[in-house]
Amino acid sequence: MDLKGRFTHIFFDADDTLWENEQYFRDAEARFTELLADYTTPEGVQDMLWRKQEDNIPLFGYGSKTYLIGMTDAAMELCGGMLPESIYYGIKKIITELAFHEFRLIEGVEETLKALYGRYTLIVATKGDLTEQLYKYRLSGLDKYFHHCEVMENKDEKNYLELAAKLDLRPEQILMIGNSVKSDIAPVVNIGGVAIHTPHEVVWVHEMMDMPESDRIIEINDIREIIPMLI
Ligand SMILES: [Mg+2]
Repeated sequence: MDLKGRFTHIFFDADDTLWENEQYFRDAEARFTELLADYTTPEGVQDMLWRKQEDNIPLFGYGSKTYLIGMTDAAMELCGGMLPESIYYGIKKIITELAFHEFRLIEGVEETLKALYGRYTLIVATKGDLTEQLYKYRLSGLDKYFHHCEVMENKDEKNYLELAAKLDLRPEQILMIGNSVKSDIAPVVNIGGVAIHTPHEVVWVHEMMDMPESDRIIEINDIREIIPMLI
């Protein structure tokens, strides 16, 4: 598929596409499991947390604050309705450190953005907690390459159609680059756009999905591979 001259805008997912994210959540879950070790097995803790996250995400969205609620709900149930102070403050410490974890760009990202800057309008298309996402966006130092950062409510077909309309683009003019099949690839392809998949070794259980069949999906291993495709 020839991409050259076909697009004016390029959309980039943020978490685990531009910078590391998921690993910090996995680390936080491991610490939570340890915190609750006296109450049940590691699998029991993980399972309870997963269920409580499923309850809370539709109400409160994504991000570490929802994890605070999910972990507290899970711990409350595992502790039989009596949550010890030490567990609550243990959770709060895990979440605080999660929210302000070290920040690491994914290799090749800056080089790629530098190459594309000035030739395309580059836009971050992310979802999650608005404050957290904008905090990471500014911290990244990548804002100088981007036109702006769009924090989407969710990343479904409807949200991508709204995003295209906002920028006076037709859906087939969307070129999206991201690590999540569910959020970055499937919805974009379903509305007629092109998606480039940059897999990340850690995938959140709530984001898991099989890759759809489409000739408008390109698989790469390193984000730098998009440079010769687009220039
Ligand atoms: Mg992502």
